[in-house]
Amino acid sequence: MYSSGGLSVDGIKIALDDACHDVCFVSHAHSDHTDAFKKKGRSIIASEETFAIMSREPQSHPHSSAISLHHAGHMLGARQLLADTENGKFAYTGDFALHDSYTSKAATILQCDTLMIDTTYALPHLRFPKRERVLLDMARFVKENERGIIIFGAYVRGKTQELVRFLNIECGVAPVVNEQASKICAIYEKCGVKLDYVAAGTDEAEEAMRSSFTAIMPSSMVNFQFGANLSEAYGRDVKTAVATGWAHISRFPVDAAFALSDHADFKDTMRYIYESGAKKVICANSSEAAAAAYLRSLGIDAVEKEEAGKSYQATLAKS
Ligand SMILES: [Zn+2]
Repeated sequence: MYSSGGLSVDGIKIALDDACHDVCFVSHAHSDHTDAFKKKGRSIIASEETFAIMSREPQSHPHSSAISLHHAGHMLGARQLLADTENGKFAYTGDFALHDSYTSKAATILQCDTLMIDTTYALPHLRFPKRERVLLDMARFVKENERGIIIFGAYVRGKTQELVRFLNIECGVAPVVNEQASKICAIYEKCGVKLDYVAAGTDEAEEAMRSSFTAIMPSSMVNFQFGANLSEAYGRDVKTAVATGWAHISRFPVDAAFALSDHADFKDTMRYIYESGAKKVICANSSEAAAAAYLRSLGIDAVEKEEAGKSYQATLAKS
């Protein structure tokens, strides 16, 4: 049973990607999902990899055998939660992707009665181009510019490690990454994901940056001006790029924007909803009201997360 802010399983209230109860499920290590790690005294349900990326010891938690965790794609350690409740099977996806990536396994489509699904890209205009096509374009871009400096902008957790592995496997390149990203790369390696990278500030990085090199920086830093400054400092051509699903619908001030996403897009979100067999869909995390309205227009019983909580409270008040 889901009510405002949480899921009830065997009498335990579980917060889903927030910290509103003592027991919290954290689907993955992106900062908009990790409030529970910032609050004291929370009992956290998460994968071992998520605990490692958050630099915490794994906790044992009082969750019952009615709960299980399943791969979610998206980034290393991302999990979905499936619970047996008095109202049937309840699944929560968090951020998810239906494709294998270089660093994580695709999400399993969980069979359920109620599905709480991430709706970041749940509207019809949010369709990504084929992943294989995007990866080929990225490999060609790297090849064409390998005699100069290439700077990719990416989130430090997740996307940077995905790009490192892409550059290793598809381009034979070991990129330079900043100190913060190199710490996360080291955790990925401990979790069994092989990554070949050079940590900025080390002698190895100084050496690598004397000639042509590829680097991955936090996306907020990477733009034309940054490229121009770098070109002046190093006396080489610099090409800047980003790799994000938003590249398909927004403009970025860089030389190349690749729509490489670690999320499900519209068609994969719809595929999940239909193949899960869910009778009720709760839209969560982003664009909730618009996504719920769109799904209702297709005849799907859908509601945004906040409304799902309210309607349950109203039922309680009546009974
Ligand atoms: Zn995420």
